[in-house]
Amino acid sequence: MPAKKIDGKAYAAGLRDRIAIAVKNLPDQPTLAVVLVGEDPASKVYVKNKIKFTIETGMRSVEHKLDEDVSEEEVIRIVKELNADDSVDGILVQLPLPKHISENRVIEEIHPDKDVDGLTETSAGRLSLGKPGLRPCTPTGSVMLAKDALGELSGKNCVILGRSILVGKPAAMLFLEQNCTVTIAHSRTQDLQGVVGGADILVAAVGRPQMVKADWLKKGACVIDVGINRVPHPEKPGKTYLVGDVDYKPSLETAGSITPVPGGVGPMTIACLLRNTVLAACMRRGWDEPDNLSF
Ligand code: NDP
Repeated sequence: MPAKKIDGKAYAAGLRDRIAIAVKNLPDQPTLAVVLVGEDPASKVYVKNKIKFTIETGMRSVEHKLDEDVSEEEVIRIVKELNADDSVDGILVQLPLPKHISENRVIEEIHPDKDVDGLTETSAGRLSLGKPGLRPCTPTGSVMLAKDALGELSGKNCVILGRSILVGKPAAMLFLEQNCTVTIAHSRTQDLQGVVGGADILVAAVGRPQMVKADWLKKGACVIDVGINRVPHPEKPGKTYLVGDVDYKPSLETAGSITPVPGGVGPMTIACLLRNTVLAACMRRGWDEPDNLSF
């Protein structure tokens, strides 16, 4: 039987609907502030979508669009201003920043209670200590999709391929929180194929097009493909298209369920950012957390 396609686009749309309902029932509208520096085309598209969905789910959006040559001090000044602004619940600084600005310095200035990307050291510490806090968006979306496909995750062998701060490490913590037995694999892992072959759940976050082959997978595994890789189109010269880190089509024959690229984990990232904005507002303002946003 071919694998079940895990439809992240549909799941994300459903989550946004739930967020809109939750927002309607809150005492006030949550506000997300977005800081965009420069003209990077991909970043501009991401920010445009984030603003669109923020407003569509009934929240307020505040935007700071800054020139490419803005100083690090000025970006930090704006972040500090947003920290101090009581009407702002979440702060998102769109990455990457231009080379003359230290991403680490800017991110660390974000108040942890407004850190809707979950990237500050405090958020990472809260996650690893199991304390309440804002969790990184893409890894959270990955857990949601795995839960949607499998139901209970407790006791499953989960292999995380990749150990980045953005995806791999927080994903490992979040699947551990779900009582999975977690293995983190990376570029120095020996017998990678063997390690992947033991996974009931595989989270692939390597950034290598179609690296994981169908015959690496355990029969019936749940495959969450985080990778987004642009590659030349084999039949259309000069054109490119997107593929994941897993060889999707042949894997439909071995996996039990699998996310496509695009349309899998990608749409979950923004939906989880909106969810974090609601959670940040609730935590900061002492409101009850909406019960339709748990997973
Ligand atoms: P990084 O480049 O920061 O990390 C890649 C990880 O993969 C590293 O830990 C690296 O190991 C490991 N790796 C690289 N090559 C191999 C290999 N041959 N064998 C085993 N492990 C390997 O990437 P990110 O975590 O930031 O992103 C991963 C992918 O996810 C990218 O395609 C990115 O575009 C995508 N992504 C998608 C998002 C979404 O919204 N869907 C959001 C964020 C990222 P080592 O540490 O040893 O070098």
